[in-house]
Amino acid sequence: ASTFKAWVNIMYGCNKFCTYCIVPYTRGKERSRKSVDILNEINELKALGYKEVTLLGQNVNAYGKDIDDLSFPELMEKIALTGIERIRFTTSHPWDFSEELIDVIAKYPNIMNHIQLPVQSGDSEILRLMGRRYSREQYLELVERIKKKIPDVSLTTDIIVGFPNESEEAFNNTLSLCEIVKYDSAFTFIYSPRVGTPAAKMKDNVSMETKKARFNKLTATIAKYELEKYKTFEGKVVKVLVEGPSKKNENILSGYTEDNKLVNFVGNKNMVGQIVNVKIVKAKTYTLEGEQVD
Ligand code: SF4
Repeated sequence: ASTFKAWVNIMYGCNKFCTYCIVPYTRGKERSRKSVDILNEINELKALGYKEVTLLGQNVNAYGKDIDDLSFPELMEKIALTGIERIRFTTSHPWDFSEELIDVIAKYPNIMNHIQLPVQSGDSEILRLMGRRYSREQYLELVERIKKKIPDVSLTTDIIVGFPNESEEAFNNTLSLCEIVKYDSAFTFIYSPRVGTPAAKMKDNVSMETKKARFNKLTATIAKYELEKYKTFEGKVVKVLVEGPSKKNENILSGYTEDNKLVNFVGNKNMVGQIVNVKIVKAKTYTLEGEQVD
């Protein structure tokens, strides 16, 4: 376990019932932890020297709705005010992503400008079948509002290809959405039914061959925009929380930027667990390369 990065559950369960997902059945209803307990835990972590905390929940935006307590943006503000250096959160459902949350992320420099915003599909009809409760247009409108208030935001996502009834046109809507949003990265999955979910009762009517072809096309599109975004970091100085020697080369250190990009760099080994300035010299598809400038 890390002595400088911690993960804190703020709630358990999920009430969303996306039709392909088993979580609401296995983990039960949304249950928020009391904000005072969460804040005590984070203050303790900070006192122990932790630099980064990631708030966890299946859908953190629903925090506090099941109890008489703070809302998620209010909780985030209190956590920001503890002064812990880096705050992350995952996952947030686009359906109840509030304006207050955008404002609080924009306001506090210790809330990292990285939002994992799972879209799953770029086609409104498929989204309806998935039970996601937003349309393509609503999702894009949310992205626009986020980018307006947080211009340097890093957006990442989850996408499922080959959901039942996904036509070529529906898939192309997913591709075009990715071209509009230009994600920093994405987790992409080929749909497969989960026993016990409503979607498992739908006809899995997209052939594996088609699913694979779409998957390859999608990952190539994502990689293209990812590299484009990473290239914009060349020549810039970024703040990196140093994790330790790189997996491939022990003379190289690795760590993560504020917007959660992996950086491999030449630097001082004594800085593990510290935040250092690194100048990016080269962008690759999934990593940045640089040198420490402190
Ligand atoms: Fe809940 Fe996420 Fe599963 Fe949807 S995909 S039911 S939001 S855990």
